[in-house]
Amino acid sequence: MSAGFDIITIFPEMFSAYLGESILKRAIQKGLLDVKLFNLRDFTVDKHRSVDDCPYGGGSGMVLKIEPIYNALKAIKADGQQRLTLLMSPQGSQYTQKTAELLAHESRRMVFICGRYEGIDERVRESLVDEEFSIGDYVLTGGELAALVIIDSIARLIPGVLGDDDSVKEESFSWGLLDYPHYTRPPEFMGMRVPEVLLSGNHKEIWRSRRREALRKTLLKRPDLLEKACLDREDREILKELCSDRYVTKGREEEDESDTRS
Ligand code: SAM
Repeated sequence: MSAGFDIITIFPEMFSAYLGESILKRAIQKGLLDVKLFNLRDFTVDKHRSVDDCPYGGGSGMVLKIEPIYNALKAIKADGQQRLTLLMSPQGSQYTQKTAELLAHESRRMVFICGRYEGIDERVRESLVDEEFSIGDYVLTGGELAALVIIDSIARLIPGVLGDDDSVKEESFSWGLLDYPHYTRPPEFMGMRVPEVLLSGNHKEIWRSRRREALRKTLLKRPDLLEKACLDREDREILKELCSDRYVTKGREEEDESDTRS
């Protein structure tokens, strides 16, 4: 399993730093990821190499033109391979871990169109794009960060990209709950001790305690996730217990107070 990404952007250099370090760099070297960058300016036809123009009807900002994007897509698709074309947009459907999991199984190469300025000529969205994704309800200056976020989240689900493939199985969202807390050496720091069970070597108890902590965190921070989480009888009993637990209730009150303060 591997993934191929073609990125259309007016700032291809923005990708080199992130893709040239750490896990993604190694994944590219191992051939698990293939990323090709396409500078939109290379697909313009006028002597000024213009990628944008003023909006019809007036208003502020510039709009990315359709012709260079059309030309770039045509050139990218000239090899005859199937592609899934994705537009980065704050108006798109919300990108989640579920979407990452679906895209990690995508056999087609994915083309990312990164917008800039006021956005992209609407006809691109209407006629050249398969999916439009937003990475959150806020507005970025361009689609480059959104494309990197999506690529990063897909890449780490491709077997062989992470040192240990099992690490993605029990992460926040993947198993329907938030992740359990993690600790490393030293066992005590300024009076704060690592939970004894984690030092016990009893793997069954460690697993149960982690599951309990994951349930507790989810109940406190993202109770909405519990509605869709896959819970067994033991989980439900733990949750019942947690709901009447002073510690959980106290944490909730503190969170409610800080919400009111902010
Ligand atoms: N005028 C647009 C609007 O209000 O919907 C915002 C344009 S934004 C300044 C420029 C580009 O950044 C967009 O075309 C898109 O590619 C990218 N972008 C901004 N926010 C994004 C988000 N939350 N998710 C994905 N892409 C985003």
